[in-house]
Amino acid sequence: MNKAPKIVIVGAGIGGLTAGLCLSQSGFTVQIVERFEEVREVGAGIMLAPNASFVCYKRLGLSDELDAVSVPMTHFHVDSWRGSTLYGMSVSPGDHPGPARMIHRAALQRVLYDAFDREQILLSSHVTGYEMAGDQIAVLTEDGNEIVGDIVVGADGIHSVIRTQFVGDDPDPLRYHGYTCWRGITTSFEHPDFAFGTLKEVQGKGLRVGMGYIDEDRVYWWATADTPQGETDDPSTIIAELSELYADFPDHFLAMLEATPPQQVLRNDICDRSPLRRWGTEHMTLLGDAAHPMAPNLGQGACSAIEDADMLAICLQQMDRSESALRTYEDLRRRRTAWLQSQSKRFGDVGQWNNGLAVKLRELMTSAFTPLTIKRQLRRLWEYDAQRVFDER
Ligand SMILES: Cc1cc2nc3c(=O)[nH]c(=O)nc-3n(C[C@H](O)[C@H](O)[C@H](O)COP(=O)(O)OP(=O)(O)OC[C@H]3O[C@@H](n4cnc5c(N)ncnc54)[C@H](O)[C@@H]3O)c2cc1C
Repeated sequence: MNKAPKIVIVGAGIGGLTAGLCLSQSGFTVQIVERFEEVREVGAGIMLAPNASFVCYKRLGLSDELDAVSVPMTHFHVDSWRGSTLYGMSVSPGDHPGPARMIHRAALQRVLYDAFDREQILLSSHVTGYEMAGDQIAVLTEDGNEIVGDIVVGADGIHSVIRTQFVGDDPDPLRYHGYTCWRGITTSFEHPDFAFGTLKEVQGKGLRVGMGYIDEDRVYWWATADTPQGETDDPSTIIAELSELYADFPDHFLAMLEATPPQQVLRNDICDRSPLRRWGTEHMTLLGDAAHPMAPNLGQGACSAIEDADMLAICLQQMDRSESALRTYEDLRRRRTAWLQSQSKRFGDVGQWNNGLAVKLRELMTSAFTPLTIKRQLRRLWEYDAQRVFDER
């Protein structure tokens, strides 16, 4: 490219921040526009899976910063609520190109945010849309500002205004999967039946729970149940209600629930959209949840946004024309993210089965996975190298 384009990114979430860093490191001028007055430290725990840590550690060089605020995931298993382990495996450093780390989502966001010069992130700017401005493209904000650049990246999440303007009258609304997910963090947690380094999911009848340490002291847990869409909780009763709902689940999970401050329990109805055929036009593209929101069952929503960021920077840096670079980025990411969306949905649909016979069948199928099958699946999920995919296109 003759002159490095200026790239305006809408949204300072994990996707927008990672894209900003990958693009800055590739020599582009980056401006991020965020609606909130500060980068909000929300959410609970996430697994920084090896496909995403590969980008953060190896490409962005953030290993020291991330090691300081995360812990390794060394064992992963899926149990039946009756107590047996259906399958399990260990993960060692070096098994995959990046490490498997458990982290508070806010800590990840803070590490990414701190790697920017402050003037690169324009806060308190609620974007309402975009429009062409001659050869350039402008992002428009609620307070009448226009931020002009050569490329706009919509990284503004599942309710993206950039995506909505692009697709027009939404033919593709959010799909509710029929279950909600509660999440929480328990501090100073210790229990003899739950080991540090373990990430586990426990599956019951129409109910699932999961848990893992996110640092030396704190455990992240989640719990799913079939519910009508849009229900809300009363903080004064939520812990008692969840304790009753999951009464048949292991004691250490119930102990985590009891030790969680009720005002901090998060609740999200689980939704995605079907894959978009086109993600952008001319000087605009989408990234992360704005392009491909997915159910959280494989822990890949934020991780796949990080993969997007890496691929976008590679395409823009290594191709001559920015429009072709954007379309190549979209082509190379579409199949991978559609696969992640469908696998995440399927894993959740099966996990939520509540008929006794179906649950028995699921347990038989899950226990029949051989270590080789699991390793093969995990390689497909966790070993993604955007540069290799770009080179082999
Ligand atoms: C229950 C649950 C559990 C999850 N667990 C995991 C997990 O374990 N691992 C994982 O990888 N993912 C997980 N995810 C998914 C993950 O949270 C998302 O996929 C990820 O946050 C997407 O990042 P993003 O940057 O694309 O969007 P977001 O994180 O939504 O960020 C979008 C940003 O854009 C800003 N914005 C929005 N609109 C505007 C506007 N109009 N103007 C300016 N700024 C705007 C927002 O304020 C925000 O900062 C989970 C999700 C849920 C619901």
